[in-house]
Formats: sequence, C-alpha cells, structure tokens
Amino acid sequence: MSTSPADSVPSDDERDVNGPSFADLGIDDRILRAIADVGYESPSPIQAATIPPLLDGADVVGLAQTGTGKTAAFAIPILMGLQGSGKQPQALVLAPTRELAIQVAEAFQKYSVHMPGVHVLPIYGGQNYAVQLNGLKRGAQVVVGTPGRVIDHLERGTLDLTQLRYLVLDEADEMLKMGFQEDVERILRDTPEDKQVALFSATMPPVIRKISKQYLKDPTEITVKAKTSTNTNITQRWVLVSYQRKLDALTRILEVESFEAMIIFVRTKQATEELAEKLRARGYSAAAINGDIAQAQRERTIGQLKSGVLDILVATDVAARGLDVDRISHVVNYDIPHDTESYVHRIGRTGRAGRSGEALLFVAPRERRLLDAIERATRQQVTEMQLPSVEDVNAQRVQKFGDTITENLASANLPLFRKLIEDYEREHNIPLVDIAAALAVGSYDGDNFFMEPDPEPAPRRDRDRDRGPRDFDDRGPRERREGPSRHRQTGAELATYRIAVGKRHKVAPGAIVGAIANEGGLRRSDFGHISIRPDHSLVELPADLSDETLNALSRTRISGQLIQLQLDQGPPGFRSGTGGRNPRRDSRSEKPRYERRKPRA
Ligand code: AMP
Repeated sequence: MSTSPADSVPSDDERDVNGPSFADLGIDDRILRAIADVGYESPSPIQAATIPPLLDGADVVGLAQTGTGKTAAFAIPILMGLQGSGKQPQALVLAPTRELAIQVAEAFQKYSVHMPGVHVLPIYGGQNYAVQLNGLKRGAQVVVGTPGRVIDHLERGTLDLTQLRYLVLDEADEMLKMGFQEDVERILRDTPEDKQVALFSATMPPVIRKISKQYLKDPTEITVKAKTSTNTNITQRWVLVSYQRKLDALTRILEVESFEAMIIFVRTKQATEELAEKLRARGYSAAAINGDIAQAQRERTIGQLKSGVLDILVATDVAARGLDVDRISHVVNYDIPHDTESYVHRIGRTGRAGRSGEALLFVAPRERRLLDAIERATRQQVTEMQLPSVEDVNAQRVQKFGDTITENLASANLPLFRKLIEDYEREHNIPLVDIAAALAVGSYDGDNFFMEPDPEPAPRRDRDRDRGPRDFDDRGPRERREGPSRHRQTGAELATYRIAVGKRHKVAPGAIVGAIANEGGLRRSDFGHISIRPDHSLVELPADLSDETLNALSRTRISGQLIQLQLDQGPPGFRSGTGGRNPRRDSRSEKPRYERRKPRA
C-alpha cells in the first residue's frame, strides 16, 4: 500500500500559510465556482491529501471522521470524472444511515450546482419505493444509498451498476458495526472490476484492513497527523448543542461567562459575517474576519480587538492564523473544526503571554465521537458543561443591574443628578424608589429584561432526531419496568418487538438500531430499550409502526440473518406461535397478547 500520510498534509500554522488552494488541486472551474458559492476558503487537510490521488485514478483509504470535510474530498473528484449524462449510475456511495446518505447526496448537489445534467439520487430504507424507482428510471449518475436498500434494488433489478466507475464506502467502520459487512462485500464483488474505490473510516479495525486488501488496488492511504500538545493553562469544555440552537447557546454563554475578549470560530466566510451581525444586533461589539477581508482592514480589526474597542471576533481558521492578542480569554468553537490540528491551532489563540484561557466547543449530537480524537490530540480532558439555564441568565442580569448602580454611585456626576432628583422629589412628592425605577426604565428594555422561560417541550417525534437510542442493557423492558411507558423524549407509545438475532449471532445494539432504522425508515430517537438475549433480542419501538414499515422490516437482515421482527408475546409458554408472520396482520386478526405500552400514570 502506498502512503500519503501526515507529511503530505501540511500541519498546523504552516498549512494555513502554505497549503494548496482549491485551484492548486486542479479542480474544475464549475466546481470552483460552487465551492466559492458555499464559502469554503481553502481545502481541509483530508481534501488536500485525497483529491489529487483520486483525480489520478488511484484507490484511496482515508482515516477520517465526520466533520473533516471528507464528503467534498471524494465528491469533487467524482463529479469531475463523470462522463456524459447517461442514465446509469457511474458513482455509488454507500453510507451507514439514511441521514448520512441524504447529507452526502445534498453535498453532491451543492458541488454540482454549475454542472447541468448531473443528477444525484439518494436511496435508503423507509422511503417509498415508487419515489426511488422514478428517480432511477429518470437516471442518476450518482447514487448515494444505504447498503440494505441498494441490495434490495439490485435484487429487484431496478438498479443497474454495470457502468459503475466509482464506489465510495463512507464511514465503513459504522457500516460494518451495523451488520452490513456481507452487503458491502457483495457490492464490492458484483460491480465492475475496473472501478475506482475510496474507503473512509474513522477507525481501522482488522476487518476493514482485510476488505481494503481484498478489494482495493494498491490504495493510497491518507491519515491526518494529529498534533499532540496544547498549553496546559487552557481549560477545555464542551457542550452538546444542536445546529439550530447554537445562537441561543452562544448568547446564553456570553451573558453568563465573564470574558475579556473572545474569538469565535465558524466554518465559512458567510457565517463570520452573519454571526458578527447577529451579535452586534444583540449589543456586543463584534466584527468578522475572513479570507475575503483586505489585509489593511484585518489589521485594523485586530488592532481594535487589542485596544478593547472590540470584544468579539468571529473568524474562520484561515483568517485567524497566527493571531496573537493577549486579551483573548475565550475561544469558542461554534462550528467544530475539521481536524484536531485546527482545533489545537484555534485554542492556542487564548492562554497567551502566560495567562490562562478558556476553550469552549459546541458539539452537535452527531459530532460527539470527535471529542475522543480531540482529547487524544490535546492530551487533556475536555469536560462537559451544561448550557446556562434561563434562571442562570436572569440571575446574571440582576447581578449586572446591581453592578451598574454600584459603579455609577462612584461617578463624578452624582452630585449634579442628586440635586435634580431632590428637586423633583420635593416638587412631585414621589418616593425615591419610584424615581429610581423610572430612570431605570429609560435605560433598560423592561419588556425583555428577563429571558423568557423555555417553552414546555412539545411531544414532537422529530424533536431530537440526532439522539441515539435511550439505553441498552441485558435485562428486558419487562424486567426493568413495571407497567407500560411512553418514550421519554418523543412521548410516543412504545411496544416491545422481538427479532430473531441475539448474542449467538454476535449482534451489537448499534447493528440493530442501524438496520431497523435504515430499513424501517425510523429515527434513532424512535428506539426505546434494547435487550440482547442469547438467541433473540427485544427492542422497544413505536407501537404504531405502519404496514409499510413492518413489511420492510420483515425483509431486513442483520449479520446475514432475517430478523423476522414481530411484536413480542411474552415468555414461551404464553406465545401464540405466530412464527415470522407480519406482526401487524397478527395483531389485527386476533387480540394481541402482548401488552401495548400505555402512558405511565
Ligand atoms: P464532512 O466531514 O464532509 O461531513 O464536512 C463537514 C462540514 O464541513 C460540512 O458542513 C461541509 O460543508 C464543511 N466543509 C467541507 N469542506 C470545507 C472547507 N474546505 N472549508 C470549510 N468548510 C468545509
């Protein structure tokens, strides 16, 4: 295996200064325009290392995690290599989950926006077959799918991979954990011999090495070197926050955390401008710096940050290179960086000149696993913090209100206003406390002085679609809880289903969730408890699964084994012996003996 490891990826500050531009990588003009549209400034390390060998026709094995920019690393060379606008797929990307499949398909669409005639089709379990069949009939040069559904289409003869020229295995380790090894190998085997293969994985267990050895041709292996040290005077914390709530999270932190100056890192140029604007609208002295800002303006802005005219800088990695301002007490990673090197570089902007510094990292639910890599790279613990509550924010506002009074009591102008107020009090006979309150009304927005309490969480089923299943253990739902329950987060009524795979088949909870979620079109947050028994498993799922879902799940396999999902009917002596029949049909034809879970009192 030839390698193009760390040294092909310029490290740390060097990378920013000397790294290649997208144009240096030989990228097609139409794609360069699309990249400019989305606002990327320069290739991430995995992109700089992966795009050239893929353009040269080599197979690639990339050790890369989500958030590194690996999607563009394979999507760009594939789009450049498409030939003609024939109907058969030329590229197939296999992804472990439907969410990832949709996301990857969207990325392809984004990068091909100036390439008319390119069609990208996601296919995944849970989606109506008719939609996918129409899409396949219309023709798509790029198909992104979950392995189970791709095999399904191959078996039905609705997907023709005879013209395939690119195959990507995205998050290969996850796919195998989910029990898709057989499907993946079958696709590798049954597609044209001379295709180019790219395999991306966050880890490299022996089974992935074996697959890469068996099916890839002298692949270029790409790993991104992690720098291993950070100043120990920087305290690192992380907070779990969904994409939609980042701004709210940031404003709460800004209110509660006492900081001198702050640098906030985001991914794109547009995001620097947008976020700086939103912070200014909330009364903060904030400015954006990014690669588009002229050097003179950049220097002026940094000068203002140094002198205290500005307190917050919103920056991209490139724009913040080498930034050295002692006042920066906090670094906020609003968007998680591409790699641990960027992270180390970012947080090194604080804790300078012997001071201590605070680094905060926003982690969206699906990015959680990047934390381990960051802890390894910095050799320091990153502790979880809770977002300040509404009460914390309001207590802080009251405290600041008091501080302002205390501060103003020392003002040289106090005697002047004291005299005016005494006159007013005498003339109008109004208590002093009312006069003081009236003055505060002039300085504060009373309607918004206190932050509103969070609304009661609505029992919407998609509220926390990023969350994983609740928990796993070796006991079953029945042993654990007396009586029925609803899903803690979604409020959905749950029922216990039995599947015909257990410890004997070496299934892991992740494989069960992956297969059922993909093939049944369910979200991970739909899952309740999972209990893996010697020869079967019990899984809590919404009690009202549709016929279509049940049908899809009756055909689902895990580790090559048909799971025969059916409603659980209790211990053996009490079963009605329905075998592998469709549970929905069973539950209609006779009163089911399982207990449908009802809301807890
Ligand atoms: P991925 O690891 O492919 O899931 O990408 C993670 C995120 O990084 C996505 O939101 C991409 O849009 C973004 N991204 C990818 N490449 C770049 C780049 N060169 N500069 C800035 N953002 C990027």
